[in-house]
Amino acid sequence: MDRKFIEESNKYLMNTYNRAPINMRKGRGLKVWDAGGREYLDFVAGIAVNCLGHCHPKVVIAIQKQAQRLLHVSNLYHIEPQTVLAKHLVENSFADKAFFCNSGAEAVEGAIKLARKYAKEHMAPEKHEIITAYGSFHGRTFAALTATGQENLQKGFEPLLPGFRHVPFNDIEALRKAVNERTCAIMLEPIQGEGGVKVPAEDYFKKVRELCDSHNILLILDEIQTGMGRTGKLFAYEHFDIKPDIMTLAKGLGGGIAIGAVLARDAIASSFQPGTHGSTFGGNPLACAAGIATIETLLEDGFILENCSRIGKYFFNKLRVLKKDFSSSIIDVRGLGLMIGLELTMPGGPIVEACVKRGILINCTSGSVLRFTPPLIVVEKEIDQLIDTLEDILERQ
Ligand SMILES: *Cc1c(COP(=O)(O)O)cnc(C)c1O
Repeated sequence: MDRKFIEESNKYLMNTYNRAPINMRKGRGLKVWDAGGREYLDFVAGIAVNCLGHCHPKVVIAIQKQAQRLLHVSNLYHIEPQTVLAKHLVENSFADKAFFCNSGAEAVEGAIKLARKYAKEHMAPEKHEIITAYGSFHGRTFAALTATGQENLQKGFEPLLPGFRHVPFNDIEALRKAVNERTCAIMLEPIQGEGGVKVPAEDYFKKVRELCDSHNILLILDEIQTGMGRTGKLFAYEHFDIKPDIMTLAKGLGGGIAIGAVLARDAIASSFQPGTHGSTFGGNPLACAAGIATIETLLEDGFILENCSRIGKYFFNKLRVLKKDFSSSIIDVRGLGLMIGLELTMPGGPIVEACVKRGILINCTSGSVLRFTPPLIVVEKEIDQLIDTLEDILERQ
């Protein structure tokens, strides 16, 4: 039954993903079950999407209620859930205004368009270049792909877009050297996610902000992965004591429903006027209802964010002990909150497979970095289970 299904899946779908041969059917909290009823502990959370766990009752009920009321009307009209979600995001961030879309890549496209438009109107006509980092990931559409500092993802799709430059991440001197009279924005992830969970030096973003201020350059933070509580604060920039000019969100924003957002201060947001940018589905009632339930639950009593910081430290320390015990297999442990990477001396793929066989879902980025992005409601017992499993697997290597 399952094998036949997987054969059909391979027959009818384009082969863009290296999928594990599992057919997932049901989820609750940290647990998911496949079609055969096998249970898994999920430390991937749909790639940092299911921040409240699978099928959180508040999100599910919000979706059910909204589905009965109204699914879609387009942005030709006002949409109450869209306004409520925008208000929550604005009141809890640096921003004054939000624009909604449907995915991360689309949010990045919006941020790039907004930065260029603002620069043309308020800086100088030649200001259009955007500097991003090597190892970054900003999405698969053309501007987002051009911004992404990974040649292997761009190969075969040339010509890419003009107007982008790349520098090493966490290297302020390289950034200084790359800035010129055409630079309109610097776009960075607070922590590189797909690039291998790379955490910058503590003062890096302060220096980036100063550089932007002294050269009249916009700072775009791509918080698609780090946002919505992932690092223990609602947004990762709060750790660095700086504010961006534009920020992108997606992944955790809808608690499992597809939604993206571009946030900006008023002065910048006003470069978008009717007709300059848009999206048919962007900010639709259903996705926004899920977003409202998600952010309200995250902020309700601070428990979840507190849990994320506390459990994140617990997790981090356990991994550090593991690194000591398996110093020939583990190079580094890094991360913030519940966005943690474990860099191995060997390819991570086989370890991911061995974990799946033992009923634990983890993920690997950059070839040899195991990445853990569990729901923010994960508890000690579940972390212990993962650590025991990793220990067992590494012992057999
Ligand atoms: C996942 C991700 C994206 C792309 O999001 P999609 O929804 O897959 O388009 C962009 N930027 C960052 C930092 C991401 O982690």
